[in-house]
Amino acid sequence: MNRKQGVEADLHCHTTASDGLWSPRELVRQAASLGLKGVGITDHDTVSGWEEAEKAGQEYGLEILKGIELNTEADGIEVHILGYEPELKTGGLLEKLNYLRGARYRRMLKIIERLNTLNIRITPEDVEKYVSGESIGRPHVAQALIEAGYVRSLKDAFACYIGFGAPAYVPRYKITPQEAIATIRQAGGVAVLAHPGIRRLEDSLQEWISYGLQGLEISHSEHSAEDEARYRELAEKYGLVATGGSDFHGEKLKPGVKLGEWGTSLETLYRIRDLARHTRIKSGLKGIEYK
Ligand code: AMP
Ligand code: FE
Ligand code: FE
Ligand code: ZN
Repeated sequence: MNRKQGVEADLHCHTTASDGLWSPRELVRQAASLGLKGVGITDHDTVSGWEEAEKAGQEYGLEILKGIELNTEADGIEVHILGYEPELKTGGLLEKLNYLRGARYRRMLKIIERLNTLNIRITPEDVEKYVSGESIGRPHVAQALIEAGYVRSLKDAFACYIGFGAPAYVPRYKITPQEAIATIRQAGGVAVLAHPGIRRLEDSLQEWISYGLQGLEISHSEHSAEDEARYRELAEKYGLVATGGSDFHGEKLKPGVKLGEWGTSLETLYRIRDLARHTRIKSGLKGIEYK
């Protein structure tokens, strides 16, 4: 669903809590000025943007869907799982996120070590200057590389140094999709497969559904019209919630990916919230009954 078809809610957005350019407040303000009715805050491995976003949501009259994005790996392939509206007090989610962020930090130090062996003189402090939240990522390293004059763009930073296959590439500690889905579901959240079209992930869909996957991201900035059609059909076939979002990080970070150009209806936002409540009720004391 693109903007012309009436996007009401962009459910995949990054903020300064992780590797986005705008603060949660600024993101909500901009969403409101675009006429959106809801946004999903889906920072990598952190929930620290939620509070500010919710406050701004009240101020600007926007629905805020609280989310996270967990980047996992299955058989060497990146699989990103979105978790919407998890409870923070139950299920060990915060501990898990904390561990993942620690691993991100240690990885950043390793990337810098590799860069240093390549005679690229940047320090952890140079990178930390670009980190305003608690979840550090390669885009922060890329910005330091640009500032120091080693590359001209983020794209070049990934291509020449820190992207997969580049000389200073260091893999991130990654959990499996199963672990991510379980972590989200145990916290009462709704687990959604993000941008399945980027790596054509449909072969494992049934397996992940058996672990508790409940939704598929259909509308996404990196999906073609064919991707959308294919995943919409699969969502219908398996009874999954069809979600959508831009994956907005900021123009400088993801050129051309505009807030609110991809997304879904407000009704879908409400449906995800209802599903999250439903899961919590069912999970009770006896553990989780998936679906
Ligand atoms: P990390 O989470 O540290 O592994 O970094 C992954 C993040 O870097 C993604 O969430 C994107 O925001 C960004 N990213 C990945 N590949 C590229 C690329 N080729 N150019 C620019 N940004 C990228
Ligand atoms: Fe990102
Ligand atoms: Fe992603
Ligand atoms: Zn994302």
